[in-house]
Amino acid sequence: MSSYDKLVEGYRKFRAEYLSEENADWLSKAKDKQSPKVMVIACSDSRVNPVILTQAGLGDIFVVHNVANLVPPYKQSGNTHHSTSAAIEFAVKHLKVEHIIIKGHSGCGGINALMADHDHKTVLETDAPYSFIRPWMDIVEKASEFSAEEKSQMDEDALATLCERRATLISLENLKGFPWVREAIEAKALKLHAWHFDIASGRLVQYNSKTDAFEELV
Ligand SMILES: [Zn+2]
Repeated sequence: MSSYDKLVEGYRKFRAEYLSEENADWLSKAKDKQSPKVMVIACSDSRVNPVILTQAGLGDIFVVHNVANLVPPYKQSGNTHHSTSAAIEFAVKHLKVEHIIIKGHSGCGGINALMADHDHKTVLETDAPYSFIRPWMDIVEKASEFSAEEKSQMDEDALATLCERRATLISLENLKGFPWVREAIEAKALKLHAWHFDIASGRLVQYNSKTDAFEELV
């Protein structure tokens, strides 16, 4: 079966279930308007979908997928094409989500591009000219600046993990730069979280600001 046909087959099963009696109650309430209380900013990577990862149901999570799950800094003007910022604005002002999760992951291509460029290697190991990825990754450039100690003590995989995790914290800080995000946090109506998912082991860790470390979620 081709990858496209597989999707069509999946939809066939989805539709049968979607319109089933079992879902009728949910559909009657949710068909006109969504009211998720959690927003997740996740990478576009096909292996780390937060809905699959958390077994969330329809209507449970408001999701933004972008390259390397980044939140750009708040800007007051010149906001012509800021899709991630627009989604955050909708989630906080309209949906009034109670949690925003920045979800990083292992083997992130965007982070790889950032680290490769930092070492003056070819971006994404090809000679293809990329116009958008590297400038987008500038948002978390600082995450790839390692100390001499880190470089001497950690192998490439460990440095990549460190970079992926630091990038989620930069995005958290950027989130706090949005005035209405800050207001919601101060009003105790919104909590921010940083997660990091390891694809090979299925391990999910979250940032604990008290210990300044990533710790097991469960
Ligand atoms: Zn990624």
